[in-house]
Amino acid sequence: MAKLVWRVKLVAERHPGVTTETELACIERDADVGLAELGLRLDEAKRLTAALQAEMVPAQMAALGECPRACEACGRRLAAKGHYGARFRSLFGDVPVRVRRLFVCPCRGEGEAKSVAALDFGGDAVAPELAYVTARYAALAPFGKVAALLSELLPLGGTQHASTVRNRTLRVGAEVVQAHAAESVNQPAAPAPGPVVVGLDGGYVRNRHRGEGRHFEVIAGKVIQADGAQHRFAFTRTGPAATTEAFRAALAAAGVDANTPATVLCDGDAGLWRLQREVLPGATVVLDWWHAAVRFEHALQAARSLGAGTADAPLADTAIRGLERAKWRLWHGRWPGCRRRLAALCRWAGRESLREVAGIGRLRQRVAGLLGYLERNEAALVPYAARRRQGEPIATSFVESAVDEIISWRMNKAQQMRWSRATVQPFLDVRTAVLNDTLEDAFRRRHPGFRPANDDRWPAAAAA
Ligand SMILES: [Zn+2]
Repeated sequence: MAKLVWRVKLVAERHPGVTTETELACIERDADVGLAELGLRLDEAKRLTAALQAEMVPAQMAALGECPRACEACGRRLAAKGHYGARFRSLFGDVPVRVRRLFVCPCRGEGEAKSVAALDFGGDAVAPELAYVTARYAALAPFGKVAALLSELLPLGGTQHASTVRNRTLRVGAEVVQAHAAESVNQPAAPAPGPVVVGLDGGYVRNRHRGEGRHFEVIAGKVIQADGAQHRFAFTRTGPAATTEAFRAALAAAGVDANTPATVLCDGDAGLWRLQREVLPGATVVLDWWHAAVRFEHALQAARSLGAGTADAPLADTAIRGLERAKWRLWHGRWPGCRRRLAALCRWAGRESLREVAGIGRLRQRVAGLLGYLERNEAALVPYAARRRQGEPIATSFVESAVDEIISWRMNKAQQMRWSRATVQPFLDVRTAVLNDTLEDAFRRRHPGFRPANDDRWPAAAAA
């Protein structure tokens, strides 16, 4: 039977006009072809790209070693100090490389490292694109699944494990994303183009170190710009000073500082309001309407069952009416009236003559709890109805979705992973960078030449 054969040859031109030819692959097919044999197969593509990589990388390293290097301080040519071996881990396989070493210039004096590599491979010699792809998908899917997917599609060296994916992702968080954020503190982002809405919420992550408590708290939130652009952030709640700084830095990355007109919404947690007072003291503060409404609903449930099945049942109407009027006043921004109503209801439920009424104690407790909650958040009670008519936010549901996407779904429910305060922050940083679509920029800053933003070298591909 007739066979079709393709030999894939690499023509390298390492010096102008001097070419060398290497066969990278030989692909064969029978003429009587089935659908599964039509075109290039994944295993062939993997072998082909790995063979190309194995040719390119050593040639580049050899050429780099031949480049003369001069001292940045005095211009003197640096002397060679042999080579060392390393394994370059790339999207297209592991490639052994010889890295040229150079003596440090004598003008740098004593106390400096004695030699320096011609190319800094970092601690683990992982190609930036491999680190990027790994971290990007590890932020969205379980580590084991990412390992399996990458191994299936790419000619990666060795078996990929969930732990490799996890460790690489944490490194990206610490060395690429956090470094990028630290740089941004010195070069602030463009100021927000108008008033912003900031939502804050807390969530819990399971702790792998039992001694420090079963869970620890992560604060997550979102900044929504006047033009609708969203910027998510998340940090662990540590000491008060560190937490305040983390919040300030998260806002700075979105171009927000103490002078930016801002509205801050949260569920009434005292620690979250403390952050707001320290970082955005001039902001308009709004207590999330639904958190207040849920407490009203709990009190109403107690009111409805008041004296159930006894001659006291009509008392329920009195309690329900009192609560509904209080809620109506709060909704329309009439807090003093709401407070009077709730206080009166509390006194009523505490009357000696009603002491024997079934469920009266529970009602009194819930109304007192509601009143206390509203009093603690008095400064953040706003005319909710009017705000809503004007299209201004009154609820933190937009923040809770951020908490869900950053913490809960990924870190507690689906993954069943345990974290420590130290390891969770780099992961949170990668995850928020992916959700904010800033991970690629962070890599660009860390590695010059990484995925050029205006790449016009592939006109045919772009047009296809
Ligand atoms: Zn020098």
